[in-house]
Amino acid sequence: MSKKLYISKPYGFCFGVKNALNIVEKVIISHPNNKIYVFNEIVHNKTIVNKLEKQNVFFTKNPKDIPDKSIVIFSAHGVSPLFRAQLQEKQAKIFDATCPLVQKVHDKVKKFSTLGYHIIYICQKNHDEAIGVIAENPHNISIVENITDIEKIQKGYEKYTILTQTTLNMFEVEKIFLAIKKSIPNVEFPEKKDLCFTTTTRQEATEKNSKKCDLFLVVGSANSSNSKKLQSIAKKNTNSYLIDTYMEIKNEWLEDANSIFLTSGASAPESLIIEIINFLCSEHGYIFVDEQSS
Ligand code: SF4
Repeated sequence: MSKKLYISKPYGFCFGVKNALNIVEKVIISHPNNKIYVFNEIVHNKTIVNKLEKQNVFFTKNPKDIPDKSIVIFSAHGVSPLFRAQLQEKQAKIFDATCPLVQKVHDKVKKFSTLGYHIIYICQKNHDEAIGVIAENPHNISIVENITDIEKIQKGYEKYTILTQTTLNMFEVEKIFLAIKKSIPNVEFPEKKDLCFTTTTRQEATEKNSKKCDLFLVVGSANSSNSKKLQSIAKKNTNSYLIDTYMEIKNEWLEDANSIFLTSGASAPESLIIEIINFLCSEHGYIFVDEQSS
């Protein structure tokens, strides 16, 4: 029996990542003699970050690392208002690569707070995106990472609304929504969740395709929220691993794997997917079938 390798689509960069990388590329070209500072990793992918570090790009989470009048790029995950203000004070030349979908959540925090709502924010509180969003109005936000956090939501507000980190597991978010509904009757649910389109379409494809294979590989870095969520969804249905490159694939994973599905998180370059396809086909005898789509 021939061993088959399929691709779970969509994969590769999302528009927010493409936009951020275009900005970095343009800034590098237009400032050839300057050190360029990026707050946080521009996107959470080791391969990209390592490559940019060789091009005079310096990644930091500490404003103290950034001298006055520097060139600074904000990452796709966004930044806190305090960091923005600190950089303005330093007279930095700022290029903002915040994904517009993340920016939308920042804007909603401000809008709903002004309208008198208390905000329930479903997120992973230590993720860069969540740190920036929470900092918009920390005293008016109750953080919910899982169902048990619902009991910690601040009581006594007349109006509540819910916001979500863009890259969470849509199936888990749904469960948390239902639990909040039971516990807080006066909560107003948003017409549309803040989960981004890239996240939901990949998660739906992952849920479907991971049921059809012996092994589901997700290309992405361990600190990439959307990549981790894909692997956690696939893991419920089959063997699944998160890998940065083909070099992390272990022979034992392939022993009983007659069919493999491969996908990537939104910040993983397509070149890594191609390397994996080449590796599995040339070194392990898989036949690549490019016909499955979401
Ligand atoms: S995953 Fe979604 S929210 Fe994150 S950068 Fe891409 S498009 Fe924007």
